[in-house]
Amino acid sequence: MSGFLSAVRQQFWGSRGDFSVTTTVAAQTGKYMEESARILRKAVPQMTALGIPVTPQNYAVWYGYFRADDRALVNAIDALIANGVAFSADVCLGLYNNFIQNNAPEVLENVQLETRLLINGLLNKISQLSKGSAHFQHSMEEFGHQIHITQDTDTLHRLVEGVLVEVDKVIAENATINDSLKSMNDELDSLRSEINELSVVSITDKLTGLYNRRAFEDNLTKVQSLETYGCSLLMVDIDHFKQFNDRWGHSTGDKVLVYVAHQLKMGVKGDDFIARFGGEEFVVILKNTLLENAMLVAESLRSRIANKKLTLGKEQQEVGSVTVSIGVAQSRPQEDPEALFDRADRALYDAKHAGRNQVRSVV
Ligand code: GH3
Ligand code: MG
Ligand code: MG
Repeated sequence: MSGFLSAVRQQFWGSRGDFSVTTTVAAQTGKYMEESARILRKAVPQMTALGIPVTPQNYAVWYGYFRADDRALVNAIDALIANGVAFSADVCLGLYNNFIQNNAPEVLENVQLETRLLINGLLNKISQLSKGSAHFQHSMEEFGHQIHITQDTDTLHRLVEGVLVEVDKVIAENATINDSLKSMNDELDSLRSEINELSVVSITDKLTGLYNRRAFEDNLTKVQSLETYGCSLLMVDIDHFKQFNDRWGHSTGDKVLVYVAHQLKMGVKGDDFIARFGGEEFVVILKNTLLENAMLVAESLRSRIANKKLTLGKEQQEVGSVTVSIGVAQSRPQEDPEALFDRADRALYDAKHAGRNQVRSVV
């Protein structure tokens, strides 16, 4: 995992000046793996004892419980246990919705790793049951290896598919272990659909429906390694959005975020990539686009947003308009994604300081 993917970055604009902190957490990966394994050893038996299916969503809840840094989650689960409440599907979903989905995105991110560990555990069980089949043994070892080195959910999904095919073969060959393999097959089957679901949730911004920051970071790394011609990156930040919220309220502000997201979508080509980076900041990756054209695209996005008069509700109450500042940078051969990002960020900073509602680039 690159430093870029695991960087924690905060920005402060305007009167507070430009201040940026980048903390690389890669060094903590070993510690994190240990912590994950420790939690896994506690969570799975506890979930099994309570009759809770070990799905990624449920696991996210129990991961949070044993990590114990969200007191509200711990108290809620302790109270359910103390009152003898059964952990039905509804109760589990309620816990997930209330405590994980919105409040603890980092837990959600960890779940993919946990899912891999669970699949690995299943593979071990399967291979113990089928020692007779040399071919199967070999395939399982290969899957086990792949699962360790795989980072993305697409590949994970394909691996699960591969395991299912192998399990089917063994079932056909060996009637005596039919039942236990079949139940594992079912378990893997449901894991497969949950991984799919989790993949979508984990890369989508809930409010705008755009990709989120995590998807952006993955995509920028991918696009940059594939492009031979050069791509450009736009960083878009709504101007004085705090004032807008203060004047019109946060929920009107949310509508503006959805509106800006829509304008960005309508203003670029279908294969360009748009994400909400966070708060009122968006990023656009223009594939195969050099700086000169990227500046034209950025300018047209800026003007289409600035020129629209915004109205609210059926009464068409006028709430003025919003403007955006945009920083643009073109990728350089073999450039680190983080360096490209920093250059676009600097250009955005220039646009802000030049008076906002402007497009700036850096060379
Ligand atoms: P600048 O022109 O320098 O970018 O000023 P700004 O006010 O846009 O920037 P600042 O970083 O001071 O404030 C960002 C504001 O964006 C503060 C916060 O209330 C608002 N914001 C961030 N996320 C959301 C959100 O999800 N919904 C709403 N309504 N507002 C948000
Ligand atoms: Mg901002
Ligand atoms: Mg802003």
